[in-house]
Amino acid sequence: MPVFSHAACLDHDTGPDHAERPQRLVAVIEALRAAFPDLDLRQAPAATRGQLLRVHDETLLQTVLESQPTGRIPLDADTVLSPGSAQAALYAAGAGVAAVDLVCNGELRRAFCAVRPPGHHATADIAMGFCLFNNIAVAAAHALERYGLMRVSIVDFDVHHGNGTQAIFEQEPRVQYLSSHQLPLFPDTGLRRERGVGNIVNIPLAPGTGSTRFCEAWRERILPEIDAFAPQLVLVSAGFDAHRLDPLAQLELEAEDFAWLTRELVVLADRHAEGRLVSMLEGGYDLQALRECTVAHLQALAS
Ligand SMILES: [Zn+2]
Repeated sequence: MPVFSHAACLDHDTGPDHAERPQRLVAVIEALRAAFPDLDLRQAPAATRGQLLRVHDETLLQTVLESQPTGRIPLDADTVLSPGSAQAALYAAGAGVAAVDLVCNGELRRAFCAVRPPGHHATADIAMGFCLFNNIAVAAAHALERYGLMRVSIVDFDVHHGNGTQAIFEQEPRVQYLSSHQLPLFPDTGLRRERGVGNIVNIPLAPGTGSTRFCEAWRERILPEIDAFAPQLVLVSAGFDAHRLDPLAQLELEAEDFAWLTRELVVLADRHAEGRLVSMLEGGYDLQALRECTVAHLQALAS
């Protein structure tokens, strides 16, 4: 299965004490190379302005692409712009577009994007929560516009709620957004009552939630909604920060939980979407857990 990435994603320099650091991506690529000796690693292209403008305002493009900082400048308490950030953000978003092209052209059924910065907190006009551009939203918009798809599901199992993805698509019935996330936790959105135009499914989980209740929530509340929507493409915001070792959150998942959920998503993609599934890395801040979970996720996708 192809993995899209780009060396430029390492040049988004968040500083020495930042959780969302280049070593995350180094760890992911090293772990994948070790686990899959024949890893089909592909160079991601840069996203174009037109692809970004499908979901983002011109003002955000200007902030990210034209600031050209000479050092690190904070956009907010968590989010940093460095000299390499614009290129990193362009290739992170472009990876998703290339992966959507690949699966929608029928070349291959599934693809993974090993990229950073992550994307799901970025709204149409605000970079926040470590995110500059909303990579998965750019990918979804590409699927709608370029391939005329009418039903795209975005599945988000990152421990944080993808407030940006939800905000971008909450009035867009062609996109279904489904998320489980810890609450309370940044950004403190994703209440169950946030339903969009019936296309948003939020399942908040209390701190301390472990495998049993997590799998139950997906099996009983989220997977049936995907099944009923019958997506033509499944997109995954794959954050692994719900792992028990993660320093930023308090859920208690194991790598096997991510593998289980991935297998379930593959079944749904096979049933409704001719197998088409594109997964993009979001969070995950304990390097060992990140390695293990990414490998488990890719093993489930590759099988
Ligand atoms: Zn996260």
